[in-house]
Amino acid sequence: MALSYPDVQLFINGEWRPTRSGKTIPVVDPATDEQIGTVAWAGKEDLDEALAAAAEGFRVWSRTSAYDRCKIMRKAAELLRERAESIAWMMTREQGKPLAQSRMETLGGADTIDWFAEEGRRAYGQVIPPRSPNVIQMTLKLPVGVVAAFTPWNFPINQVVRKLSAALTTGCSIIIKAPEETPASPAELIRCFADAGVPAGVVNLVYGIPAEISEYLIPHPIVRKITFTGSTPVGKHLAALAGKHMKRATMELGGHAPVIVTADADVKKAVSLMVTHKFRNAGQVCVSPTRFLIENKVADEFLEGFTAAAKAIRVGNGLDPETEMGPLANDRRIPALEALIGDAVERGGKLVTGGNRIGNQGYFFEPTVLADVPTSARIMNEEPFGPVAVINRFDELDEAIAEANRLPYGLAAYAFTGSDRTATRLGLEVEAGMLTINHLGLALPEVPFGGIKDSGYGTEGGSEAIEAYLETRFVTRTA
Ligand code: NAD
Repeated sequence: MALSYPDVQLFINGEWRPTRSGKTIPVVDPATDEQIGTVAWAGKEDLDEALAAAAEGFRVWSRTSAYDRCKIMRKAAELLRERAESIAWMMTREQGKPLAQSRMETLGGADTIDWFAEEGRRAYGQVIPPRSPNVIQMTLKLPVGVVAAFTPWNFPINQVVRKLSAALTTGCSIIIKAPEETPASPAELIRCFADAGVPAGVVNLVYGIPAEISEYLIPHPIVRKITFTGSTPVGKHLAALAGKHMKRATMELGGHAPVIVTADADVKKAVSLMVTHKFRNAGQVCVSPTRFLIENKVADEFLEGFTAAAKAIRVGNGLDPETEMGPLANDRRIPALEALIGDAVERGGKLVTGGNRIGNQGYFFEPTVLADVPTSARIMNEEPFGPVAVINRFDELDEAIAEANRLPYGLAAYAFTGSDRTATRLGLEVEAGMLTINHLGLALPEVPFGGIKDSGYGTEGGSEAIEAYLETRFVTRTA
């Protein structure tokens, strides 16, 4: 298969095209610093065309039956599977993650489309028992309208496919502002939908200056719903804008996941699952485990096992099949991580392994383990979004739960315990949108995916994800 990285265009009203101004920006391979292509940079004129197309797309798609929408979506999933190899290659070139992870993300995207395609056929309303025999009362579930979606660079396909699938299955049209740093793989995802027969205007794809696009689209009267994945500060800003203009919103924001390991847990299993999970996608994952809280009796064993496994991770270009961890996706993560690690050490934390950039070409960073870091350190409070684990200790479960709940974040949490009683208690007391105990069970299309507290609101998985794109309307009439 001949593989080449494209110059990525906008997709508006069923047409792939450059921006009206002709403006583009470069796309860089984070493993080599090399420019590999360009991406079109939308201006207001392009956005106006996308808005008009999406309004007409909504008119057409909302009148298409759920059965026919499902057929087109399932066709798109098939195309995505067929094209997975070349799309995964593009993802690795633009984002850096190992090819196996890009492949898994692409194929997982196809499963997500299938699940949502079927679920939309079950968007049932209700018939409500009336107070009078000659009255009928019912609820209708109708699509909310044109959606504006903003997605980040860490999972170029997964972040788009969840929003896109939920919107399409319910009959919404969508304008996606996909990530400028990793534009080709999401564009190929959209191509699968276009080739599967989604009518013109139903799906529109733009890139550009994120703040300019969100400030324009969110207040616009054609847009009825916002969905955003990214950092908490940006999410709060966009949620406020959505609130000001009375737009529905789903916010999937940052996390700082705690991992509680009690002395009666299977420590080897905890180490093995958590090392893989921590360094997946070089730690640039909103549900990445970050604050490890290990019961004192097993803390040395956990730290030794985790550190040895972290040291053994093969870091390199994601295209090399031997690579287990690729580079960071962009150069600004390097100083951000160096500052967080430096601060932790200055405040008395131990640097057990890693801590440095690798080489000076590409954005490679060592898998890093810090231990016994005080809670005053920045890394105990800010999302590192990189390959850094902090391993701390506790004596009493109460302490661990208090630490887990200390931060305003509440996205994912992990626990390993041999006690059913502890597992039940953690399920009730740990403040997280998602808690996985003794195994890794997050992010399947059929289960909720989302946070509480400052990690946002709404969910991008399970039947509730569909609800976010539907309005409940009430109709009552005489029989
Ligand atoms: P950033 O906060 O500048 O951007 C994060 C994402 O939000 C990017 O995709 C960006 O395009 C988008 N964005 C920024 N300002 C926006 C605006 N005004 N309107 C619309 N979209 C906007 O940070 P970054 O350097 O790209 O990433 C670093 C931080 O972002 C991380 O520390 C992490 O907290 C967060 N992040 C989270 C996720 C996630 O999956 N939740 C993904 C990527 C980044």
